[in-house]
Amino acid sequence: RAAMQPAAPLPQGQGGSPVHGVSNKVVGVLGGGQLGKMLCQAASQMGIKIVILDPLQDCPASSVCHEHVVGSFNDGDTVREFAKRCGVLTVEIEHVDAATLAKLEEQGVDCEPKASTIMIIQDKYRQKKHFSKFGIPLPDFMEVDTLNSIEEAGERFGYPLMVKSKRNAYDGRGNAVAQKKEELSSVVASLGGFEHGLYVERWTPFVKELSVIVARSRDGSTVCYPVVETIHKDNICHVVEAPAEVSDKIKKSATGVAEKAIKSLEGAGVFAVELFLTEDDQILLNEVAPRPHNSGHHTIESCYTSQYEQHLRAILGIPLGDPLMKAPAAIMYNILGEDEGEAGFFLAHQLIERALNIPGASVHWYAKPEMRKQRKMGHITIVGPSKTSVKSHLDKLLQRDTYTPK
Ligand code: ATP
Ligand code: MG
Ligand code: MG
Repeated sequence: RAAMQPAAPLPQGQGGSPVHGVSNKVVGVLGGGQLGKMLCQAASQMGIKIVILDPLQDCPASSVCHEHVVGSFNDGDTVREFAKRCGVLTVEIEHVDAATLAKLEEQGVDCEPKASTIMIIQDKYRQKKHFSKFGIPLPDFMEVDTLNSIEEAGERFGYPLMVKSKRNAYDGRGNAVAQKKEELSSVVASLGGFEHGLYVERWTPFVKELSVIVARSRDGSTVCYPVVETIHKDNICHVVEAPAEVSDKIKKSATGVAEKAIKSLEGAGVFAVELFLTEDDQILLNEVAPRPHNSGHHTIESCYTSQYEQHLRAILGIPLGDPLMKAPAAIMYNILGEDEGEAGFFLAHQLIERALNIPGASVHWYAKPEMRKQRKMGHITIVGPSKTSVKSHLDKLLQRDTYTPK
């Protein structure tokens, strides 16, 4: 009997050692919130080691990561030290020390996506200028730094006028709406004044908000997830319907805008493109997230390859997976804190108890140490054979007779 021969030489990883399993590279993630946690869960399945940098001892990712370094992703020295133990560095939040990432890149550290991308995205005004340069359709916008200039913007764009902080924005914190000229100074004050950097956008009376997740590999090829509809409550993403109920033509133009936007940025990973659909079927870009996104939570249960696994595949340079849905319909419901402390935990638990009795429903609880109003505490994804089915299951979950998204 012939002796067994290995079919081919073992693949070599970085440093010349053989690859065991999917990849030998240690993935470093800046941030350990719920997105970091779900990245770790996908990594664990594939035996990929993830190290998390987050200042919070009991951050959501801490219980599932390979290692948690307690420290700030906004401190240069801490990020530099952290980078030493990682084969590839990525983010689950864009509000990180991007200048340090840029310096690390110069020294040969592999950051995906690139520091240049994080820098553009983390300043929403800079982001708008960038996309405008690349011909991406956007709501009109203008930088404002004095009461005079914001009044001028009000005259130009009309009211309501959307006023936004350039930096550190999330869940609508950092946005404020002026209904008329007289409200401008109080709206500016509510955002901390001009000194932190503000700009304004023309109010977009959208008929729907859509989102497309685009994954780009290290060689530059892209794949897009199906277009979804995001429904916000008080500026916070609340419900995501997959796929979106829009015409094929709209799906095509939304995907086209999203792909074009991402091709203008550098680096590998998944990117979420938030879009407005207007009454006359135009697609306008709202903003981009250079990382997995709330509008892609449903992909864990509903797609062949989840956005989390896809992000790891993209940054590690292994083949991208199939982004298509393996179920006809999915709906995702964010569990937002309804009250502080124990009262809030009680309400969330009631919801979870109902979810556990609904066919096709999966519960994700982030285990954040503190319950706060309007905070994303977990989510529930319902997958099913049709839109009608998942919507009626959501009605059951929310104890309401008919589902009315708006
Ligand atoms: P995220 O949590 O998605 O990062 P954010 O704090 O960056 O949110 P935006 O995405 O800028 O905030 O805005 C939040 C929501 O406010 C949008 O999803 C949309 O519902 C509404 N909005 C934003 N810009 C406009 C606009 N120009 N016109 C009308 N509504 C808008
Ligand atoms: Mg944002
Ligand atoms: Mg947004």
